[in-house]
Amino acid sequence: MRNIPRNSSEPTELTTLRQSGDEDFGPLDAPLDAMFEGVCAYCERKPLWRSRQDGVGADDTDLPDREGLFFTCDHVRPRRLLCNPDPSVGQCTAKSPPHRFDCVIYDWHNLVYACQPCNAVKGGQWPTDGDVAVSYINPCEHPDNPAAPNRVFEYDLDSGRLTVRGDVSGVPRANAVQTIRDLALNDPRGRIEKTSYSAGERRISLAELRLRWVSDLRKTLDIIVEVAPSTLTDVARGFVSSDARFSSIARQFVEGSRYRHYLT
Ligand SMILES: [Zn+2]
Ligand SMILES: [Zn+2]
Repeated sequence: MRNIPRNSSEPTELTTLRQSGDEDFGPLDAPLDAMFEGVCAYCERKPLWRSRQDGVGADDTDLPDREGLFFTCDHVRPRRLLCNPDPSVGQCTAKSPPHRFDCVIYDWHNLVYACQPCNAVKGGQWPTDGDVAVSYINPCEHPDNPAAPNRVFEYDLDSGRLTVRGDVSGVPRANAVQTIRDLALNDPRGRIEKTSYSAGERRISLAELRLRWVSDLRKTLDIIVEVAPSTLTDVARGFVSSDARFSSIARQFVEGSRYRHYLT
């Protein structure tokens, strides 16, 4: 999970949605796509399609983990906690939809760009079961906040697994641990059709996808340093750019490698 700076003011599409009380967040696709640069806020894959229909019959780069890789608008804090007829639970007392203009489901700061598999895994979960954790890690948290993604997460470069930094404690640690667990950020994504099993495919985990990505990155840089060293800076920066898939593990790898000075 990488840090995403949040535009301070909400897009006009959200204002329009709030005024109508509608809860079809499709109009937010474009502004969220732009802000998150086409990369899932949680798993850092790049969804290729706007709808399930668009993806039918197509392959993506994460084969065989290709099921449902289209993007969605996700409520970080789930809708069920934001809009509930019971005033002690939620803030909107409207029968939904339409919602009242002040319904918290329209809070710009609670909306992120997520692939459909991440959104489905997350569902309506929220750490409210009495654990120490009080929230999931928000990708748009200010980078200086102790609970920001860059402050709590790191990767095991030998396995590709997302982990919690050793120097993180207390509530931020509990939030980070529960985020990894509930959002299954090291696990397989997507459903597998019966035909996929018969074809010998298996579900591939996010950790393994990351590990392969870093392996490809290492090979690429090792070749380029030999054959086209003048392009190494551009290539290295491309891999760690916030619009690239798995950019945060790529950054950690490059910063710890002999190529680190190509980033500066
Ligand atoms: Zn995702
Ligand atoms: Zn509401």
